[in-house]
Amino acid sequence: MRLPALLAGLLGLTLAACASQPAPEPEPVRPEWRLAIHGGAGVITPENMSAEGEAAYREALQRALGAGAEVLRRGGSAVDAVQASVVVMEDDPLFNAGKGAVMTAARRHELDASIMSGARRNAGAVAGVTSVRNPISAARVVMDESEHVMFSGRGADEFARTHGVATVANSYFTTQRRREALERVLRERTRDDADRHGTVGAVALDRNGHLAAATSTGGMTAKAAGRIGDSPLIGAATYAEDDVCAVSATGHGEYFIRVGVAKTICERVKHLGEGIEAASAAALDEVAALGGDGGVVVMDGYGRVGFVFNSSGMYRGEIDASGARTAIFGKPPAAGPNSE
Ligand code: ASP
Repeated sequence: MRLPALLAGLLGLTLAACASQPAPEPEPVRPEWRLAIHGGAGVITPENMSAEGEAAYREALQRALGAGAEVLRRGGSAVDAVQASVVVMEDDPLFNAGKGAVMTAARRHELDASIMSGARRNAGAVAGVTSVRNPISAARVVMDESEHVMFSGRGADEFARTHGVATVANSYFTTQRRREALERVLRERTRDDADRHGTVGAVALDRNGHLAAATSTGGMTAKAAGRIGDSPLIGAATYAEDDVCAVSATGHGEYFIRVGVAKTICERVKHLGEGIEAASAAALDEVAALGGDGGVVVMDGYGRVGFVFNSSGMYRGEIDASGARTAIFGKPPAAGPNSE
């Protein structure tokens, strides 16, 4: 074969090979900032919620989204944003965190919270606090102002107080609704699903590309004094690593601890290259196989959000520069601003 013919043949082969290769996926476009929250997962169906109840939850979710978005819009950090959103939900008696938290069998409140910054994987957590008005703020001072990651009980309350976190009497957290739920559980000796949902959490991406996650809870109605759930455990309910993912989980804590849900999701994303929804579904399948249920809000390094749960509903919402969306029942809303 003459040289020009040979070259033409080779060129043809190369072009044919290129044509049969799938075009590389375009890089996802990262939003300037984005924040997503949950207010607990469980048996939450249109049949067991009034129209007024639904409206109240949606409004509460909007307020929490607004507080975090305000931080991100101004160029604040993801970690400040998740804290701001969680503080709003802790202050709202609708949720099982801060004011309105569920009660222990000893008729008190013991609260758990954790926060993690994806930038350097700094983290802070408190378990079993009884007098910190906003447990997420206590977790934050543990992260920022101690060389440790986690404090528990009296030491945690004391550390938070001496670092300027507001304190309250334990009775501040009590509401009539939680008192009645406790009496019912103690009387009937069974805890239904509604006796724990309401845990709150948030994940965010800021303008500098940093991720963060936060989770806060009162735990489970009539829990034994001293019981600690997954919410304050880094790797179980909370995890964040820049360019990988940020997770906040809610559900039956014992199972989430045993599976290490938040870290499992991020490891699958990082090492198996799975998308956040597939990774979350795989982790929740492990929870379900052990007998547990619940859900997660998860965000990847491009700011894409997943709400994945194996319960009938999860209070949830997300916000970015294009607007806010909230949902409660069934499957997550279709993408798009104000789609619900
Ligand atoms: N995970 C929380 C706990 O086990 C409760 C919940 O999220 O519903 O303490």
